[in-house]
Amino acid sequence: MPKHIFVTGGVVSSLGKGLTSAAIGLILEQRGYKVSLQKLDPYINVDPGTMSPYQHGEVYVTDDGAETDLDLGHYERFTHATFSKSSNFTTGKIYSSVIAKERRGDYLGRTVQVIPHITDAIKEAIHKGASETGVDVAISEIGGTVGDIEGLPFLEAIRQFALEQDPSEVMFVHVTLLPYLKASGELKTKPTQQSVGKLREIGVQPHVLVCRTEQPMTEEMGQKISLFCNVRPESVIEERDVAHTIYEVPVDLVKAGLDKIICKHFGLPYEEETDLDDWKVMINELIKTTEEVEIAVVGKYIQLHDAYKSIYESLSHGGFANGCKIKLRKISAEDLLDQGTSLLEGVGGLLIPGGFGERGLEGKIQAIQWARENGVPFFGICLGMQCAVIEYSRNVLGLEGAHTIEHSPDTPHPVIALMAEQEDVDEKGGTMRLGSYACDLVEGSKTQTLYGAKHIRERHRHRYEFNNDYLERFNASAMNIVGFNPERGLVEIMELPEHPFFVGVQFHPEFKSRPLDPHPIFRGFVGAALAHSRGESRIEESSMA
Ligand code: GLN
Repeated sequence: MPKHIFVTGGVVSSLGKGLTSAAIGLILEQRGYKVSLQKLDPYINVDPGTMSPYQHGEVYVTDDGAETDLDLGHYERFTHATFSKSSNFTTGKIYSSVIAKERRGDYLGRTVQVIPHITDAIKEAIHKGASETGVDVAISEIGGTVGDIEGLPFLEAIRQFALEQDPSEVMFVHVTLLPYLKASGELKTKPTQQSVGKLREIGVQPHVLVCRTEQPMTEEMGQKISLFCNVRPESVIEERDVAHTIYEVPVDLVKAGLDKIICKHFGLPYEEETDLDDWKVMINELIKTTEEVEIAVVGKYIQLHDAYKSIYESLSHGGFANGCKIKLRKISAEDLLDQGTSLLEGVGGLLIPGGFGERGLEGKIQAIQWARENGVPFFGICLGMQCAVIEYSRNVLGLEGAHTIEHSPDTPHPVIALMAEQEDVDEKGGTMRLGSYACDLVEGSKTQTLYGAKHIRERHRHRYEFNNDYLERFNASAMNIVGFNPERGLVEIMELPEHPFFVGVQFHPEFKSRPLDPHPIFRGFVGAALAHSRGESRIEESSMA
């Protein structure tokens, strides 16, 4: 039976609970324990797949095709745990299962209620999230902030969970904020006291407080929080804002002794020293490097950093691999359409991420034309690849009016078409081509060389695809199709071999990059962008044709 850690959040949202949970996973793995991580989200959508990125940030996709919360991205980047449909439950998903049971008559005439039926379903979800064999510690993060009405059934469920297990097998970690008042030059503990008070009203007494703070927390302040919140002084942990990168968080938590506190609580043996050496080397190199490359990201949801979270992280991993820092130039595709490609001048590379909807599409297409014609490294992901297909069709293959039928159903050249199995799909939620699919790479292509493999698997989230009626025309041009899905012949990757770097992929490589194991295409793209900004890249005439 695994031990369970429940992570809750207090005072405000966006405290970095997801990062803290991921870092706890990593520091336990470093001590040799197998972990699982799970997110419980109190909102009513069945999953975030139908939400606007402005509401929720990016939708993170697992191998088995679940559309999940972006915190799962942190969990995957920090740990080696496996993620699936059981790694993210929402109120909507829990209620759907309970209502389906009620309709089947499974409750045998009883009144169906929040307690015990909803809370039972939540506890079942927690067990499911921890059900992989060999898990030593299961970490479940509860979304939202303590005090939210919709979070109550989840807090009640974890209270019951602790009651049913041996108390030494459950640990509550509360991540809270110590606001800093500039005028008086002090950190304040009252909001934390009140938030812990709220938790204790429900019957949950935290064992550990992770205190998010901009300023150092004094020992005296730690003592005060300990006394008022009924938490042992050594378990009041400071988690100060990091100076350089989020990957410093686990190193700081180990310094504060959190791994030892957890092991001690659970009676798990631990060695005196954990190394985290490879993480420390990565962080030090990042701090030391003076080289920087500027990457333009042209998208629709550019104002919100979380909307392209995994893309930005993967770029920074590509930076680690090439010994440079990444400077982002975030450009709204609509601004680009209004103001022109001068907005791109001076960047080392252009990345167009995935997306939906017509807004800004022509701006993305113009940006791609500029990168292709000027030999600027380009990386297109999902909609980014589809835009590159449209651009090349119109401007090089002479297919006037070429478009995607997602936005132009009557186009004379539907170079991007609806996938056959999508034709009869009416419901929006969970119905795209989702999750991990195989891709065979063309031997000797740039992309194949980067992967160093011939058969790969990558994750998908789309309804439209390259229209194979145009395959011959592409094959006869300078653009090479270099990745195919072996089962269905779907086009997965294209590249311009004579361009310094011009790669479009139908899948989402950003879901599989890790700081210590950067994704090969991100590594290659950042390397090419670095070379371009140093003035070292070359372009052959034929790729501009
Ligand atoms: N809207 C496009 C499609 O559904 C691209 C999706 C994406 O970029 N994730 O095919």
